Amino acid sequence: MFSYLLIGAGLFSSVLAHELAKQGKSCLVIDKRTHVAGNIYTENIDGINVHTYGAHIFHTDSKEIWDYVNQFAEFNRYTNCPVANYKGSLYNLPFNMNTFNKIWPDVLTPEQAKNRIGEQSCEMAGKVPCNLEEQAISLVGRDIYERLIKGYTEKQWGRSCSELPPEIIKRLPLRYIFDNNYFNDRFQGIPVGGYTQIIEKMLAGADIQLNTDYFSDKEYFDTCAEKIIFTGPIDCYFDYCLGELEYRSLRFETGIVPVQNYQGNAVINYTDAETPFTRIIEHKHFEPDNKESFNLPKTVVTREYPADWKIGDDPYYPVNDRRNSDLYNKYRKLAARERKVIFGGRLGMYKYFDMDDTIAAALELFKCLK
Ligand code: FAD
Ligand code: UDP
Repeated sequence: MFSYLLIGAGLFSSVLAHELAKQGKSCLVIDKRTHVAGNIYTENIDGINVHTYGAHIFHTDSKEIWDYVNQFAEFNRYTNCPVANYKGSLYNLPFNMNTFNKIWPDVLTPEQAKNRIGEQSCEMAGKVPCNLEEQAISLVGRDIYERLIKGYTEKQWGRSCSELPPEIIKRLPLRYIFDNNYFNDRFQGIPVGGYTQIIEKMLAGADIQLNTDYFSDKEYFDTCAEKIIFTGPIDCYFDYCLGELEYRSLRFETGIVPVQNYQGNAVINYTDAETPFTRIIEHKHFEPDNKESFNLPKTVVTREYPADWKIGDDPYYPVNDRRNSDLYNKYRKLAARERKVIFGGRLGMYKYFDMDDTIAAALELFKCLK
């Protein structure tokens, strides 16, 4: 009998397994995929580290979390500076002086940019934004909304910006300086050699069973351990008895292109409505110091296509609108009645967790485990 069964070998379970093993607790970690690391899995393809489930940039404002993750890998100094391609013109992201000057060539100073955005957002004056469209217009005005937000967001989330919660867009910084760094956090980087090694180190003290779906033999697994941590979708655990939570899914189309440098940047977003993918990732640019992979006469690129989710697909993004938040709260009440099972991670807690949030939540839970 194990002390803990951890369902899912992603970052959340792995942090817990690592901390539990240090306390001498025995852990069995299972995952239905054929590999560990969940969505932060990276694999080496022809000498290039590839983010199999989409671009993953580690960033955090917490010194504690940064020190924690640095125990497991050396991080490079990669700074995410995505570029947007709107109908053949390129714009810097996040929204900063470079973007403003490209959109409005007569805008040269922060004051001029503030005035122009003020003129464009006055249609929202005095109103509290109650959806993403209103939030975006009040933050950056209509020109930027139409070119850089509307098409991308509606593809990504599969519904109109006027039906999406305002919070989603608040993730993006808005700056009146010439700074293309996508994140405001103090610490940022990519682990040299990829993320999978981090998870392998975290799981070194645990037993691991891959290709194993908990629900294929739930009765057996329930007797394997004294406590269970479930990091799959919470509604799936309860067999969707209260209804399905909504997720967005993605389809990744990855290929090798026989050129040294395909697009000159790790991430280029396609913000028009017509292009069916949201972004193209060129993986070698995540490790610019890795001259060996950088100089190869080939490169690996991934097109990311947003997709509707249905049972059986990979659930990538929780859709945190009112209906889903209410439904999640009902599932949480059911979860609280489970004596042996604790729910965690991005799917178990139905939260849009970045990696640093995931680590923080796992460490928080660890403190509460007896
Ligand atoms: P997961 O990684 O999803 O792990 C859950 C695991 O549980 C999966 O491996 C799954 O196979 C397994 N599982 C589910 N059900 C069962 C079952 N019944 N039986 C067995 N196993 C099961 N964060 C950042 O900080 N920076 C980024 O740039 C960033 N980019 C992202 C891009 C994308 C496209 C996505 C989807 C997420 C991104 N994130 C990013 C978030 C990051 O991926 C998460 O914070 C992190 O992976 C969450 O870890 P987790 O363990 O909670 O979940
Ligand atoms: N977004 C946008 N245009 C862009 C990039 C992002 O409108 O070029 C919006 C979109 O709604 C997205 C949100 O900002 O869902 C958050 O973007 P982020 O890059 O943080 O999303 P993630 O990396 O989690 O997919």
